[in-house]
Amino acid sequence: MSRLLVIGCGGVAQVAIQKCAQNKEVFTEMCIASRTVSKCDAMKEKLEKEGFPVKVTTATVNADDAADVSKLIRQYKPDAVLNVALPYQDLAIMDACLECKVDYIDTANYEPEDTDEPVWRTAYEKRCREKGFTAYFDYSYQWAYMDRFKEAGITGLLGTGFDPGVTSVFTAYARKHYFDRIDYIDILDCNGGDHGYAFATNFNPEINLREVSANGSYWEDGHWVETKPMEIKREYDFPEVGKKDMYLLHHEEIEALGRNFPEVKRIRFFMTFGQSYLDHMRCLEDVGMLSTTPVKFEGKDIVPIQFLKALLPDPASLGPRTVGKTNIGCIFRGVKDGKEKVIYIYNVCDHQECYKELGSQAISYTTGVPAMIGTALVLKGDWKRPGVYTTDEFDPDPYMDMLNEYGLPWVVDENPAEVE
Ligand code: NDP
Repeated sequence: MSRLLVIGCGGVAQVAIQKCAQNKEVFTEMCIASRTVSKCDAMKEKLEKEGFPVKVTTATVNADDAADVSKLIRQYKPDAVLNVALPYQDLAIMDACLECKVDYIDTANYEPEDTDEPVWRTAYEKRCREKGFTAYFDYSYQWAYMDRFKEAGITGLLGTGFDPGVTSVFTAYARKHYFDRIDYIDILDCNGGDHGYAFATNFNPEINLREVSANGSYWEDGHWVETKPMEIKREYDFPEVGKKDMYLLHHEEIEALGRNFPEVKRIRFFMTFGQSYLDHMRCLEDVGMLSTTPVKFEGKDIVPIQFLKALLPDPASLGPRTVGKTNIGCIFRGVKDGKEKVIYIYNVCDHQECYKELGSQAISYTTGVPAMIGTALVLKGDWKRPGVYTTDEFDPDPYMDMLNEYGLPWVVDENPAEVE
């Protein structure tokens, strides 16, 4: 029995909310709060129409403002807050949870909306020099809450989506059941889906395009190696999807895995992209449409990437038209009982099956289901531990069981092809 406050009601949130409703034993009451309350009301209506017993209320909240979030927490008195808004809001929501002593869960690590803000910029440039990677996001801002969360006796579970999230649980599971030592990890994110548009993103366009257009990097022998965007390309034959080109990206779970599994020699992340997506992205970047710096247009400040977001299809609307499957997982090479071994743990998810079940495409589905699972494990106490943690730092077994139960079954291939 628990009360959950969900912040955000976009593509990922809509899946997480419906999955919470399916998990009747844990989630008995829920407040859905977001900037646009009509989306929350529509979700409440859907759950009621489908006969779910969860008692739902809705609210408007400005999650950029910690005081506004605190006010809502004090009114609603939730047992936990699930942040499925945007990474920009992570710190404000964490501050509110700290003030009100409530557990906090999210799916993506903090990055600032305004990357030209001078105080943040100075700290960012120092971090680039010291750590050797230039992504706008990193865990330092959220890991800095460790002692304060411990003192308050609350849990912060960071990044419980698919990647990060499930990929880190796969790592903990591989280490627990398959290896005495892991030497190499390749995280593969393949979307074999087709939505029929020349260009659209599968989750929030602003966050997605920032991530994909940035430099790549990987972790090797205890330090970062940075690459130009899309510099490293490989082909992989994905089970149930087929051959796809994939590109090395910087990705946030590498930072946590590098810290928490120091014996691993190399960790890389690859994502598949079609040629049309890459051509459009390069063109948009060349003309300045991916910029986060405001430009004056007819007397108004306009942020190019936010304007672009308004033109692109809403990722939550891609469900009915997306066909094909995703295959996301990790290839591990390491040693067990003195012998070298390689395994690939992965999930295959079908876009149309997700649409039939919840009305969403597989990218939102594969993120929203783990968001519910992480939240349920914190609320049930299995993953409750004062402090701030990523998903690789807990017992992976109950999470892996719930993936099977709630629509993301996984496979362990003990003879996979490796990535060169
Ligand atoms: P959407 O843009 O579809 O939804 C974001 C939601 O947050 C919207 O409902 C939006 O409101 C709301 N919101 C934005 N700003 C505020 C604010 N200041 N106050 C209150 N509400 C606000 O994004 P997605 O659902 O695609 O992504 C959600 C999160 O999931 C992101 O953090 C993303 O990075 C993460 N993600 C994680 C993945 C993983 O595997 N770990 C994979 C994919 C996404 P409005 O409706 O008014 O716009």
